[in-house]
Amino acid sequence: MTHKADIAPALLAWHARHGRHGLPWQRDPTPYRVWISEIMLQQTQVATVLAYFERFITRFPDLQTLAAAPLDEVLHLWSGLGYYSRARNLQRAAQLVVAEHGGELPADAAALATLPGIGRSTAAAIRALSAGERAAILDGNVRRVLARYFSVTGVTTQRAVQERLWKLAESCTPGRDVAVYTQAIMDLGATVCVRRRPLCPVCPLQQDCGARRSGRQHEIPAARPRAVRRTRSVVMLLARQDDGSVLLERRAERGVWGGLWCPPQFPSVEAARLFAKTRLRGAEVEPESRTILRHAFTHFELEISPLLARCAGWNGVMDGPPVLWYNPASPQRLGLPAPVTALIQSIS
Ligand code: SF4
Repeated sequence: MTHKADIAPALLAWHARHGRHGLPWQRDPTPYRVWISEIMLQQTQVATVLAYFERFITRFPDLQTLAAAPLDEVLHLWSGLGYYSRARNLQRAAQLVVAEHGGELPADAAALATLPGIGRSTAAAIRALSAGERAAILDGNVRRVLARYFSVTGVTTQRAVQERLWKLAESCTPGRDVAVYTQAIMDLGATVCVRRRPLCPVCPLQQDCGARRSGRQHEIPAARPRAVRRTRSVVMLLARQDDGSVLLERRAERGVWGGLWCPPQFPSVEAARLFAKTRLRGAEVEPESRTILRHAFTHFELEISPLLARCAGWNGVMDGPPVLWYNPASPQRLGLPAPVTALIQSIS
């Protein structure tokens, strides 16, 4: 019988037959390409990431190109992926690497983890997958596999539970074939040891898995207590000229949709009407706002009431955030949140 912590052989054998092969970032797994893919894969499924990764790498084939690009361009290629701080951090990290590390990502997980947006697990994944270095990862998928296999109860965000899982992650990481092992345990969590209804009968770890033996797969890992999600209501003014162009303003870099372009946003219909009357030439505002659009963020739900105004452009000089007229027929390369793209399409 194998030692319980010696899960690598079973995972390596399973991966050879059932793991995910041929993903674009697995071809030529340079630290830069692995880094981009790992950041995109946080919060996002592989199937969605594929097209985004190809476009991003084609436009920014190396770290220097990414560091030198306009932020609008970076956010443009991230539009629709969500969690835009990931894109802003990627570029900030690239700029820091150019300024302080001679343009090369540090070849050391601890130094990588000091860069914006790169945590301990992502740093380890970059080193393990690109260089085969023995570095333990603990992303959401791996956490779930280890918690179940070793019957680690408790909420995984608790410090003591985290520490226990990190120790287990380290002891399970083998001395060789680290890149394949790392991919294997991530793949197992993503495709077999899934959150709901894990596929235990086809799992290579089923024999010694504590959660399976005790029938507690559905209780481990323990669910995080959920905060009540608030609703935030806003009015977005869709000011449109006859040529189809729509007024957008750039949001501040911090906060939700930071650095992205959105229609002007107001707390009430009255405020939006006042803006249209005083700032837009010949504005005719529709009497009612259109169908409410809802968008879920991690901590709150945004309820957008779109108010359409036809106009003939500016009424004098603007102050406030940067603004532009965005024409969907010949779009500028900007970052637009997915709900804003949908709103613009709905009036085009
Ligand atoms: S046996 Fe089931 S619960 Fe245990 S690691 Fe495999 S899929 Fe997960």
